[in-house]
Amino acid sequence: MSILTKTNELWFFEIRLESIGGMGANLAGKMLAESGVLGLGLNGTNFSSYGSEKKGSPVKSFVRFCQPDVEIRDHSPIEQPDVIGLFHEALHTTVNVLSGLKPGGVVLVNSTRSFEEIRRDLQFPYGTLALIDAMGIAIDERTRVNTSMLGALFRICDFLDPDTMRQVIRQTFEKKYPHLVEPNLRTFERGYQEVRFQTIEALTDAAGMKFERPEPLLGYETQVLGGLIRTQGNSMLKDLSGSRQGYLPELDLASCIHCANCDSVCPDLCFVWESGEDKRGRQQMFLKGIDYQYCKGCLKCVEICPTGSLSSLREEVGYADNHRVAHVFN
Ligand code: SF4
Ligand code: SF4
Repeated sequence: MSILTKTNELWFFEIRLESIGGMGANLAGKMLAESGVLGLGLNGTNFSSYGSEKKGSPVKSFVRFCQPDVEIRDHSPIEQPDVIGLFHEALHTTVNVLSGLKPGGVVLVNSTRSFEEIRRDLQFPYGTLALIDAMGIAIDERTRVNTSMLGALFRICDFLDPDTMRQVIRQTFEKKYPHLVEPNLRTFERGYQEVRFQTIEALTDAAGMKFERPEPLLGYETQVLGGLIRTQGNSMLKDLSGSRQGYLPELDLASCIHCANCDSVCPDLCFVWESGEDKRGRQQMFLKGIDYQYCKGCLKCVEICPTGSLSSLREEVGYADNHRVAHVFN
């Protein structure tokens, strides 16, 4: 019997990882493909697509498996995946992450929130949703999100052998970083064990998610003749919150001395200021707060602040009335 119980008309089983630069989805896709090819003798391919932008921009990694007697001649991006792995839940605000998901497909999300909240945000009414606190595990074990996501992905792709991945982890770290072997094995194991599932049966005639190829807003067909872009380079709509990896700065204005050290190191101009008068009536700029839309959680501001007015906090990202709210737990 085939190891791959679910395949498409070309006999492929396809996985798409949706992530942001810096979270290790590229490497996770590579390791996933290797474990199927080297561990099980399947045919498989993997490649990633990412832009030339800085860390924090959207990344996709594609993994395609098939039986050893089937040739893979299709090297195009995966449009109708069986499994989607969402490395950062906030990505859905900027990328159509579920695009093309097959009926009966599985969506794995790195999140601490409830199934209901994630279904509402992703607009994913039926099908199998898998949740894993991959960031929490990585922070506990001092490892990376991609290893805990891999643990959960191995549980979903139950035809893969977790022992192969344990071996890959050992081989990857034991020579140069032997102290990282055990934490990474624990991270993988926790991802495998702690992933939670919820399946809501689809209606019998339910279609998969429609595939959408993102089109540029302005091109030769849509550009207004003689039109003028008045806000070129404008970053007003840019949302960097998806780049944060579990932490964000919290400001205690009561102890702030408005020295602007934080502003001088912040790479994304997140600090908001207003002019006012000091106690002697002299004009001065006063720090008003942090615009979290542009904050990518690098925490350089926390390091530089001389008064401890900025501290780092674990972040849980939630959505209320379409506004992102960051709130603290623990
Ligand atoms: S570095 Fe600290 S004290 Fe200085 S303005 Fe920023 S928050 Fe305030
Ligand atoms: S963590 Fe601080 S320095 Fe880094 S982007 Fe956010 S506000 Fe700016």
